[in-house]
Amino acid sequence: MSSDKEPVKTICPYCGVGCGIQVQPGDEPGDVQFMPWGDAPVNEGRICIKGGAATEVVDHEDRLTDPLLRDDDGEFREATWDEAYEYIIDELERIRDEYGPDAMGFFASSKVMNEENYLLQKLARRYGTNNVDNCTRMCHASTVWALRTSLGAGAMTNSMRDLREECDLFWIQGANPGEQHPIANSQYFRQAVLDGATVIQVDPHANKTTRSFQIDDTERHQHLQLNPGTDIPLLNIVLKTILEHHEENPEDGWVDEEFIAERTEGFDHLKETLADFDKEAAAEECGLPLEEIELAAEKYATADNAAIFTGMGMSQHACGVDNVQNEINLALITGNLGRAGTGVNPLRGQNNVQGTCDVGAMPNVLPGYQLVDDDEARESVEDVWGFSVPDEPGLTNVEISYEAGDSVKGLYVMGENPVMSEPDANSVADRLADLEFMVVQDIFMTETAEFADVILPATTWAERGGTVTNTDRRVQRMRGVGNVHENTKHDLEIVSEVGKRLFEEKVFDFDDPEVVFEELRQVCPSYHGMTYDLLGEEGLHWPCYELGDEGDPFLYEEEFDTESGLGHIEGVEHTPPAETPDDEYPLILTTARLEEHYNTGTMSTRSPTLNRQTPENFVDVHPEDAERYGIEDGEYVRLKSRRGEITLEAHVTDDTKEGVVWTTPHFAAASANRLTNHVLDERAKIPEYKAAAAEIDVDIEP
Ligand code: SF4
Repeated sequence: MSSDKEPVKTICPYCGVGCGIQVQPGDEPGDVQFMPWGDAPVNEGRICIKGGAATEVVDHEDRLTDPLLRDDDGEFREATWDEAYEYIIDELERIRDEYGPDAMGFFASSKVMNEENYLLQKLARRYGTNNVDNCTRMCHASTVWALRTSLGAGAMTNSMRDLREECDLFWIQGANPGEQHPIANSQYFRQAVLDGATVIQVDPHANKTTRSFQIDDTERHQHLQLNPGTDIPLLNIVLKTILEHHEENPEDGWVDEEFIAERTEGFDHLKETLADFDKEAAAEECGLPLEEIELAAEKYATADNAAIFTGMGMSQHACGVDNVQNEINLALITGNLGRAGTGVNPLRGQNNVQGTCDVGAMPNVLPGYQLVDDDEARESVEDVWGFSVPDEPGLTNVEISYEAGDSVKGLYVMGENPVMSEPDANSVADRLADLEFMVVQDIFMTETAEFADVILPATTWAERGGTVTNTDRRVQRMRGVGNVHENTKHDLEIVSEVGKRLFEEKVFDFDDPEVVFEELRQVCPSYHGMTYDLLGEEGLHWPCYELGDEGDPFLYEEEFDTESGLGHIEGVEHTPPAETPDDEYPLILTTARLEEHYNTGTMSTRSPTLNRQTPENFVDVHPEDAERYGIEDGEYVRLKSRRGEITLEAHVTDDTKEGVVWTTPHFAAASANRLTNHVLDERAKIPEYKAAAAEIDVDIEP
């Protein structure tokens, strides 16, 4: 493609690393190509397979190009934007009049920019409900809860750069950066390891992280391949080992007494919780030799700077908050917080899941994590907005889906696909079919849009500008090449127009993302010191409280952002998964994502490059289980749980443990989420995707 148009500098639309890429527009609107951005601040021109293929979906033949309305005969027909808007406004008003505002739910999107998510949550609140949420509920809601409560902010405490330079030990639990955050892994973490840092990986499944660090091949690294759902006993062994050693050898400094005394609260509670804890029994529960876990504890406690990386293997459990709290406990008692190369670091999945939470698209918080039930905080936001906000937290997105057809009558979905992304997906589909009204705005016809009454064609990541916030809190600008299809609209324009038509006062009068960002800064303290000009090409790490703040690569140097200023330690006890194997379902099913695909596959399964790598779902089965069931490698099997069944190819591999089967959620024809359990963490309301009871049938037709 030759073109005299200038390429635009923007951010990869896939994972939360926030790699900068360029999009080269051609002579025709859909003619766009990927170009490296050589001095991009995060990745310096490097790119993984997903980032390199991201432009493939921009002008895909499946793009939605016109608004669609469902007719009386149940079929979709093309409509004008005016017709679609009128229908939406009529239905939003009808539902509010008949049932009240809490009968609506609003789904924001981590694939959409800060400004657009900010407007959607503002729309929900002006409508009169806090029933607004985003897919963080499915990935890191428990992490956000634990970090916010015990340290102050629901985000990475440190940055990729300071970890690469200063970290001596990477404790990676339930995260797979080798596959899910490839550039963070190769450019930052692996470089530190090549320079001598140690890796402890805690994961039931061997994966590209295991292989990228050659964990099996060296003395320095360990892979603790625990049973799914036993992270609390494993960390309790680590904590108790450190405490026991410190009692006998205080001069070794495994426990940082000064840090505990000056900067934490709750240490006694942890000691009491562990007083009668039986390490031998716990190691058996984890399925690991006790000495291996004790050795890992020693390595963590003796590292100068140790950092914990936490992922969905920790967060997606009914005990997700407790899982992450125990990681916080480990960092706090050893003084591994508040300086470079340390911390508790959630690796965020989507390119703007951090920002979507930051701007308040959650049912319990307003922009900047200000609690809706904190009168002072809420009133400060109301003063800027000029209207009242409900003072009770709303429903989370899984709760909204499960209330669909009951207390929830209508749903506004921006760029989300709950029929694929939520657990027990068959039941989600049944519930959405019971809604009185659903509008979906997206770039493709999704499994969720099939149930909508109105579908609005949005633009892709490459066509529009705005900001996104990556996994280490760096806010960066995206820039667009303009609309590929003339009758599509940016999410910002759509939400603003709905707001303008629905409400008389001019609180949705926006036609430019920078103007929205200017308002966001007024209500989001940690973004207050940022402007588009100051973000420039480098971006800024929040918090930036005042103009001129340069942002913090690591948090809590002097105090934690809690009410007392102290880090909160709290002992936790093991809660086994809600479903454990039995005679009928004797296997443990666990799920995770692939490097080549992305969440519900809406974009990645339409990318020829990515689909060539992995065109369909599969299940990893341990060789001993394969022999017992009589499964050959490559044979099709039926994988079943109490909620559904899928047919997929079996991969016989010792990447998984005996008794554990492992599969992915990306492919509509055989999505793991038809099987997963919808039981929730009581506080964070995140579902338990990582452990369910399952069974395999063989001898089936593929
Ligand atoms: Fe995109 Fe993530 Fe790959 Fe970077 S590592 S190119 S942000 S998918």
